[in-house]
Amino acid sequence: MICSECNGGCCRRFPIDISGYDMIKISKALMIDYSYFVDTRVVKEAELEKIKNNNIAMFKFTDDSCESYYRFCLKKIKSKVFPDIVSCMFLQEWNDNLLKQPDGENEIIARCGIYECRPLTCANFPVKFDLSGNFPHITNPYTDAPKIDHPGLDLCPRDVKNEDFRPFADSIVKSLTLYNYEEKFFKDLADFWNTEPKSYSEFYKFIEKIYNNRLSSDKS
Ligand code: SF4
Ligand code: SF4
Repeated sequence: MICSECNGGCCRRFPIDISGYDMIKISKALMIDYSYFVDTRVVKEAELEKIKNNNIAMFKFTDDSCESYYRFCLKKIKSKVFPDIVSCMFLQEWNDNLLKQPDGENEIIARCGIYECRPLTCANFPVKFDLSGNFPHITNPYTDAPKIDHPGLDLCPRDVKNEDFRPFADSIVKSLTLYNYEEKFFKDLADFWNTEPKSYSEFYKFIEKIYNNRLSSDKS
C-alpha cells in the first residue's frame, strides 16, 4: 500500500474535519475527553461558500452571540520532525538516523497513532464517490494537489494507482458509504442545532444524546 512508503504529508497539510460519529468513536476508544483532541475552528467569511459546497457541518454557539460558524477538526501540534510546521496531534513521527537512505538522508517515518479509530475522512482519503454518487473514484494527490515546497507537506510518494486500492475494494465501498451517511447526518444535525443554538458547553451533551439514541424500533 502506497501509504506505507510515505511520511504522512496529508496528516500535516490538511485540516482534518470530524463528525459527531468520529468524536464519539475516538473519545470512547482512547477514553479521553473531547477537549483533548477537538479543535473548534471559526469559519472565516471567505471560506463559507467552499465549506458549504464540501458538505462540512458548521455550527453556531450562543457564546459569541451566534456571530460565527464553527467547524470541528482534529487538533494539530508542532511536528516532531518538521518543527516549522504542524501535524495532526495523533501522527507518530520518527526521524530515524539508524535507517539511512542511500543518499545519506535520515529516513522519516510517520504513521497514524489512532489507526483503528481514525476519522472517516482519513480512512477514505484519497478515494471519494464520483459525481453520480455510485462509483468510488480515486483522486491522485501526487499529481492533482498543488505542490508545496516543503518535504513535510509532500503528498504521496508516487502516482496513485488502481492496484493500490483493488485488494481493499469491498471495505472501501463500505467505508465510503458510511462516510457519506455520517457527513450528511452531521450536516443535518448542524441545521437542526442552528435553528436554536445553545452554548458550546451544551454541545457535547447534545451530540451524545443524539448518537447514543440513533437506533430506534417501531415499538419504541
Ligand atoms: S487521525 Fe491519523 S490518519 Fe488522520 S490525520 Fe491524524 S494521524 Fe493522520
Ligand atoms: S500523502 Fe498519500 S501516501 Fe502519504 S499517507 Fe497521505 S494518502 Fe497515504
